[in-house]
Amino acid sequence: MEDLLPIGEFAARSGLSARVLRGYAAAGMLVPAAVDSRSGYRYYAPGQLRLARLILLLRQARVPLSEIAIFIRHPDPGTLRRWEGELHLEARNRRQALAAARDHLGLAAFGLALHEGDDALTTQTAGSATDQGTARTTNQDALVVSPPLFAVADGLGQTPGGETASRLALDTLRAAFTGEPAAEALAAAFRQAGRAVWERASTDPSLHGMGTTLTAVAVLQTQPQTRLAVASIGDSRAYLFQDGQLRQLTRDHSVVQSLIEAGQVTDDQWRTHPDRSLLTRALGIAPVVEPDITLPEVTGNARLLLCTDGLTAQADHAEIAAILSGPGDPGQVASDLIELANNNGGADNAAVIVIDI
Ligand code: MN
Repeated sequence: MEDLLPIGEFAARSGLSARVLRGYAAAGMLVPAAVDSRSGYRYYAPGQLRLARLILLLRQARVPLSEIAIFIRHPDPGTLRRWEGELHLEARNRRQALAAARDHLGLAAFGLALHEGDDALTTQTAGSATDQGTARTTNQDALVVSPPLFAVADGLGQTPGGETASRLALDTLRAAFTGEPAAEALAAAFRQAGRAVWERASTDPSLHGMGTTLTAVAVLQTQPQTRLAVASIGDSRAYLFQDGQLRQLTRDHSVVQSLIEAGQVTDDQWRTHPDRSLLTRALGIAPVVEPDITLPEVTGNARLLLCTDGLTAQADHAEIAAILSGPGDPGQVASDLIELANNNGGADNAAVIVIDI
């Protein structure tokens, strides 16, 4: 018995306790190589450490013992893939249920979310805030925080059209977004959202003419880079704030943006331009409206900002950057940005999402 390991030593080297080992032996999964007929003492062969390690890993993956017993006899990669698929599905369903619970409670902001990436488990922190502003009596802006998907929408049209359009677009977007590949998933979800708003606007006379902006970011964590998929229709915006620099990731679909690009309006003049609210593209005003989609990659820590024009028309980039560089958590920063918009006049509804990546 010189080559054999006593159960105590095998337990220590395998990471499985003697009691657990006895259980596995009883289940026929990991049977001792020898048993002392007089003392009943159990011995394992060193070669069994590999099998013990496999069982331990599968237990850590929370695979039921009955399935492990079958798998170790026929360890085919297809079974591992199936378990992984089931895990993704379960995690996704549980995340959606948590998001629905958050909505059910009427909570917009959330603290810390564990987000499962392609090959790494990393953390994202996001916070959000929205406000009707000082001049309006309703809030037609809305937002969705449903990692890895984040989106803001600014409803157009008379009440109740505006708020119906922004809410319907966001709800459809969230339900339709399937994850990967993100550009295709976002494009498809935008099409569904557009169709939903268009159909409701065409069938309900009280909602006729409603539409909405829609700007969404899918944050896909991989090491060492973070991949983003950014999709936008209208003049709500996404920004990346990194190393003190604020970079706009979206391009407004507006008449004034065209004038800026033609050199007829400067960056400082657009906020007060009489045609500032004229959009050249909006969701729901036609049966099919295509978003702009970009796929930026980010290395290192950064802060993402999604916002409606209720913020950007009230505050310039320097003011926004100053608040984004502050020490607060994303929820606090989002509230501070809303406060900035209101302090500068608050002429419009505003919705803001801040995401640390
Ligand atoms: Mn607005």
